Amino acid sequence: MLTIRFLGHAAFALEADGKQVLVDPFLTGNPTAAASAEEVNPTAILLTHAHNDHVGDAVAIARRTGATIFATHELATYLGQQGANAVGANHGGTVAFDGGTAKFVPAWHTSSYLEGETFVAPGVPAGFVVRFGGQTVYFAGDTCLFGDMALIGEEGLDIAVLPIGDHFTMGPRDAVRAVTLLKPKVVIPCHYNTFPPIQQDAEAFKQEVEQQTAARCVVLEPGEQFQAGS
Ligand code: ZN
Repeated sequence: MLTIRFLGHAAFALEADGKQVLVDPFLTGNPTAAASAEEVNPTAILLTHAHNDHVGDAVAIARRTGATIFATHELATYLGQQGANAVGANHGGTVAFDGGTAKFVPAWHTSSYLEGETFVAPGVPAGFVVRFGGQTVYFAGDTCLFGDMALIGEEGLDIAVLPIGDHFTMGPRDAVRAVTLLKPKVVIPCHYNTFPPIQQDAEAFKQEVEQQTAARCVVLEPGEQFQAGS
């Protein structure tokens, strides 16, 4: 059994067997955050890329809990220099955390971090294929549509978590095309309605997914959760 709780924007908490894994824990400063950085207790934190709306509170949470941050090599090195326990890997590689694994897969996007008024650019963005709680979950991260999603689909996805906000990532139309390549059982949209440029109608997206593909689309409001498996 896997519980996926949407914490707002692209932040998710995965829970299985009493263990929690966070993905992109942007909580402080997130107008839609459903938890504070003090309320989460992960053993692992997966970061798709360096943008501040994804790294979020990762370092503070890692320092407080002792959780390990997993990110692409340059970002992990950078966050390690901030005092976090961070493990770097890269596309194609699989890392193990307490209770599961995460495989780094490509994402088409950029990756930079604003430190005060200075941009630093640690590495490249990624997505993850996470195996945890008996489920296989694809976190696309921030990305456009790309044809190699068909290869990621060959992993046999139970759930695909896809951005639909447009402007910075693919929008709803391309996200539906992504579903046709990924062939997951369940689609969960994210990265929309946090800020004005990424306003979207998630219910309309759900209708398109369920009309055009075999997948079920689960729209989660921040704070809501989805349980998968038994
Ligand atoms: Zn981004």
